[in-house]
Amino acid sequence: MAKSFDVVVIGAGPAGYVAAIRCAQLGLKTACIDNWVDGEGKPSLGGTCLNVGCIPSKALLESSERYHQIKSGLAEHGILTTGVKLDLAAMQARKTRIVGALTQGIAGLFKTNRITALTGKGQLLETGRVGFTPRGTEQQEVITAQHIILAPGSRPVSLGAAPLDGDLVVDSTGALAFADVPKRLGIIGAGVIGLELGSVWRRLGSEVVLLEAQKEFLSMADGDLAAQALKIFAQQGLDIRLGCRVTGVKTARRQVQVAYQDAENQTQELKVDRLVVAVGRRPNTDGLAVAGARLQLDEKGYVDIDEHCRTNLPNVYAIGDVVRGPMLAHKGSEEGVAVAERIAGQPGHVDYDLIPSVLYTHPEMAWVGRSESALKAAGVDYRVGSFPFAASGRALAVGESQGLVKILADTRSDRILGVHILGPGASELIAEAVVAMSFGASSEDLARTVHAHPTLAEAVHEAALAVDKRAIHMRNR
Ligand code: FAD
Ligand code: NAD
Repeated sequence: MAKSFDVVVIGAGPAGYVAAIRCAQLGLKTACIDNWVDGEGKPSLGGTCLNVGCIPSKALLESSERYHQIKSGLAEHGILTTGVKLDLAAMQARKTRIVGALTQGIAGLFKTNRITALTGKGQLLETGRVGFTPRGTEQQEVITAQHIILAPGSRPVSLGAAPLDGDLVVDSTGALAFADVPKRLGIIGAGVIGLELGSVWRRLGSEVVLLEAQKEFLSMADGDLAAQALKIFAQQGLDIRLGCRVTGVKTARRQVQVAYQDAENQTQELKVDRLVVAVGRRPNTDGLAVAGARLQLDEKGYVDIDEHCRTNLPNVYAIGDVVRGPMLAHKGSEEGVAVAERIAGQPGHVDYDLIPSVLYTHPEMAWVGRSESALKAAGVDYRVGSFPFAASGRALAVGESQGLVKILADTRSDRILGVHILGPGASELIAEAVVAMSFGASSEDLARTVHAHPTLAEAVHEAALAVDKRAIHMRNR
């Protein structure tokens, strides 16, 4: 193996592997060190996202939604089904196949791009050097690099009151791999993971209770949409209890007893068959750098960087979940591209104001830009246009008419400041808003853009018309 590279990347998640590929495309001699292995001990590139995050969760969300639809959602279409059975092992095997295809796909892309893939642990040493300990050995080799990109990702936050046992009390990775459907499932944290994985197991038959510390539901989302989503999720049978503090967890006779204080400060007890702890993630910085390297972390333990992802050390960059900003795969990937381009002398850039967020529940929720409460807090004058999916012909035909599109535009310039969608296909529809906002579009620009009929995207068009009170298929107020 060569001991000297233009760029060494530590971590092959969506931040690191994308950075490595872009570096190689730009003609830089690149190595990528990653320590993830699959259940059989084989290297498995793609990090959290491909192995135990975005991809397996979306595979199960899709399968569970189909099961639920076939079991109980088709009668209104005049389709009657009987004898529908769940083969969870087959569902899990499909998920594993998809993960395998994609992780092997990254290995293939590394080969095509002539990236040296190193399986093992990477560590930042003093000036321009990286320690590499191959998997299965204790011997650290030293590699020199002109540029180093740190992309070690994140891991679940643990909760003192609810220690994991890998069996009945698990994190998101455990909750993606249940071999049977728990009769009663408890989830600590009604954030993105709690709601997505709670939806999976609810659709497959679990009674699901989510204990959330905050009194406000989905505080990062637009308040109106979060309130509507809470009602819809409750109708689906997700029992979301807000303002709850878990104080202790005991397991006995294959049951989990969760003690918690509710929003009225009353002591409560919940008995479940399995408990998932999903209370956020924290950056992977333990052992990432030797003390002598003097890598600076911020007060929350993330690698400290400037707006171009440069750390305090020359030619050392950090990207993805290990640095500030939303812990999202696409945010890390864009940082990877931008850093690679900067290393190659190009002007890499990430627009942090326009990173879309998506909650893959049913209906989906997606947003980009600022919410009404953020605009109010900033004293910005804005106009609102919203349009309900109940008035969309396509949404009714599809049988998915819950939710709405809401567009916020600057009162004076009409520039779009935020777009919030709760409804069918929100994860795809939001892309139109991101593109429009990237080009500095006004709501008038969207309103004057032809949208095919009948499509769900017409709801975005109508919401843009509604900003100026001229939506066609509803009463303008
Ligand atoms: P990671 O993906 O965590 O990759 C880091 C890699 O570096 C890992 O392979 C790790 O083993 C390796 N590593 C760490 N330290 C070292 C070291 N010292 N030496 C060598 N290798 C090292 N995001 C979305 O945008 N959309 C979603 O739908 C979504 N769904 C998710 C669902 C779940 C259940 C979870 C848990 C997360 C989800 N996320 C989603 C978040 C997403 O997975 C992360 O934001 C993303 O993976 C971060 O990418 P990364 O490259 O920074 O880190
Ligand atoms: P999160 O921050 O979305 O939600 C954690 C929730 O747990 C919050 O609502 C928080 O208030 C609550 N909480 C914290 N401490 C608690 C306690 N002691 N008791 C009860 N509730 C408590 O984090 P997550 O759901 O763990 O997800 C981790 C990261 O992964 C997120 O940053 C997210 O961006 C990413 N992710 C993204 C997607 C997606 O893009 N669709 C899906 C899954 C995960």
